[in-house]
Amino acid sequence: MIDTEIIFWTIAISVLGIAVGSFLNVVIFRTGAGESFTGRSKCRKCLEPVAAIDLIPVWSYFALKGRCRKCSSVIEWQYPVVEIAMGILFGLLFARATLGIGLPVFVEQSEWILLFVRDAIIAAFLVIIFVYDFKYSYILDRFSVPAMIVALIFNIALGADALNILVGGFLIGGFFAFQFLISGGKWIGGGDIRMGLLMGFLLGIELGVVALFISYVFGAIVGMLLIISKKRKFDSHVPFGTFMAFAIVITMIWGSQMLEWYLGFFG
Ligand SMILES: [Zn+2]
Repeated sequence: MIDTEIIFWTIAISVLGIAVGSFLNVVIFRTGAGESFTGRSKCRKCLEPVAAIDLIPVWSYFALKGRCRKCSSVIEWQYPVVEIAMGILFGLLFARATLGIGLPVFVEQSEWILLFVRDAIIAAFLVIIFVYDFKYSYILDRFSVPAMIVALIFNIALGADALNILVGGFLIGGFFAFQFLISGGKWIGGGDIRMGLLMGFLLGIELGVVALFISYVFGAIVGMLLIISKKRKFDSHVPFGTFMAFAIVITMIWGSQMLEWYLGFFG
């Protein structure tokens, strides 16, 4: 593709990402409330159906100044944030795949469409896991297990070293399973073990370890900020799935470059 085409398609894919983000909000809210995904969107306070004009992603939230048209109750800022985040993620993932920047070592430039589809699906699952664990303190298997399967299938199709990704998954998953066993499930939950498997199956051994490291650094930074701001006590629950989801997305996009940069120090 020539440059102007890449710019056009990146914008178009970002708009698609915003629409996907809008759907992910529905998935998150309705899963949390135990509702089905079908049926019209309703205000969560007054239960009035939301008019089509007020269902435009991002735009409607700001046009309504973040309030329901009928009852004026506050609409959660999760809506525009997830939509904008998905728009940015889709655009970034598309641009990096077409331009061939920091691709996984086993991916040929000619396979960029397959890589983008893998990344887009994984990003959607990880954004759900990120928000859901943060809000409800649960990493649901119905989100982490399909992500794992998608990662394995696409990586094999892209020509990844099967042994590397399997060992990566069981190594990092095993790391969490070990902590689970010796703490009797107090330090971490079973959901964290599944996230460890996903980390390795998606990224392989080397980048999986990078993602694991970033999870802890991110978790430590957020934890300290919360303690300093007195929002949280030292021993309160930490949404580790949120940190892992964040770390996996960062590593999926920039991991190869980070590893190259780091290894550069050792000549
Ligand atoms: Zn309302």
